[in-house]
Amino acid sequence: MRYILTLPIYIVILIVLLSGCTGDNMVINEPNHEDTGIPNEHAPVPDEPSVDTTVPPEQQEVTTPTPVVPEQPKEEIPEPNKPAENDKTLDNGESVQVIAEPEAITVLVNKQFSLPMNYKPAELVYPNINFIFSEMIDKRKLRKVAAEAVEMMFAGAAEDQITLLGVSAYRSNATQKALFERYVKRDGEAEARTFSAVPGHSEHETGLAIDVTGGDGKCAAVDCFGDTKEAAWLAEHAAEYGFIIRYPEGKQDITGYKYEPWHLRYVGTTLSLEIAEKGLTLEEYYNAVPVSQ
Ligand SMILES: [Zn+2]
Repeated sequence: MRYILTLPIYIVILIVLLSGCTGDNMVINEPNHEDTGIPNEHAPVPDEPSVDTTVPPEQQEVTTPTPVVPEQPKEEIPEPNKPAENDKTLDNGESVQVIAEPEAITVLVNKQFSLPMNYKPAELVYPNINFIFSEMIDKRKLRKVAAEAVEMMFAGAAEDQITLLGVSAYRSNATQKALFERYVKRDGEAEARTFSAVPGHSEHETGLAIDVTGGDGKCAAVDCFGDTKEAAWLAEHAAEYGFIIRYPEGKQDITGYKYEPWHLRYVGTTLSLEIAEKGLTLEEYYNAVPVSQ
């Protein structure tokens, strides 16, 4: 058995020795990273092929060739947020980190991780779904990848006789600022922070989050949505389309937000399925420090 397994390797080495190995034919066994389902920005960086550039070409003939062993594909775990250098301190003394890769589908945006100042996501489009309003305005937009996923999710719900409507999706930094200030004026800053985000800290600014409600338009972004059949359908099926219920019940100490059964965040199916299966939050997935009030 051992002989059978090692024989092909000897043959390969022999062929390589006879043919004179070059850097080019050493990389033919690179694994295919295309089909891992991980967005490019989070794909593991493959090892550089080892080509000794310090040796003149005529001497490379006599160096010992590296055995031709295919590189094992690495595990599909996206990297957590890498904060940028320019951290800042909020007015209330809380320190926050500015995210280095705000475009990543799997980005973690919360009270501790902030989007860069005036960040605007690329490829914002209007998803072909119904909203509780009819105007073609910014808050109907999502990033293309999330827009396509939400269209499929709404269609999937319709097949189960569940009607969903969009309430609010993309929000610019300026809009989030105005919104937060309005809540602070109404409820005071401490209370406002439990349900609204400081500008730069809202997932709605990523173009990957959408608040939804049932077809009757009642309970739009309010607690009673949690008791609807639409909320139950989302809790069961959203992950199949790459979305997670971002602020689950009983996880306020970790996410920093009250239960929001209507707030869906697109993370891609690799993450959404794992998070749903294990009953995690995005913070727990990344082992991030819980967000305190
Ligand atoms: Zn929301």
